[in-house]
Amino acid sequence: MSRRYTEPIAEYSYYNSDLKPLCSAFTPVPAVPAGTPAKYEATGTTVNISDLNWAASTYFDYNWAIIWLNPNFIPGINSILQNAGQFGSQLGITSAYRNPGKEVLEYGGKAWSRHVWGDAVDLATFRDDSKWKALLSIVQTSLASYATNGGPYCIEPEVWSTFYPKNTSRANPPDPLLPTHLHVDWEPPGSQNNPPTQACLSKWILPTGQPQP
Ligand SMILES: [Zn+2]
Repeated sequence: MSRRYTEPIAEYSYYNSDLKPLCSAFTPVPAVPAGTPAKYEATGTTVNISDLNWAASTYFDYNWAIIWLNPNFIPGINSILQNAGQFGSQLGITSAYRNPGKEVLEYGGKAWSRHVWGDAVDLATFRDDSKWKALLSIVQTSLASYATNGGPYCIEPEVWSTFYPKNTSRANPPDPLLPTHLHVDWEPPGSQNNPPTQACLSKWILPTGQPQP
């Protein structure tokens, strides 16, 4: 039986996250109800903070989220929203902030995921390869000037961008050609889990659009 906590900050230690947040890192914001498939943002130019707290499930329902710890996060999302017209009414957020317990127990992820750091967002691609590629183009265009102004970002490769139930893994993904989402995060270069001069994991898509060697 996994331990459960009544507040998310204790989970960071329990799940050995590299982030050890202070209370001041958290913003009070209602959690998106568990089971919500996507929160649509297509016509907005400023993200609703209430669409970013995905710290709810059958086990937890935390009305606190890390939203502002990385100052590039909200401006980055807003840049995408402002260029999202090509994606029409389908641009949606399927996840953003996740507490460590949700990340580990429900997604089979690690407590160092950028979702627990509060600087990652997943955008809906509806298990459609063409939609993923179209959204990639929109994101890269949206963040081009942003990146040159000091806002690094990372995009997860399409082949990993499916939903991973607990019993699957990146080595054995359920349906690698049917991406559910496009993951963007704003991991800073030189952060704890990466070499000093790099953001992004190896093979992820960098701001230039070139895979990392
Ligand atoms: Zn993600």
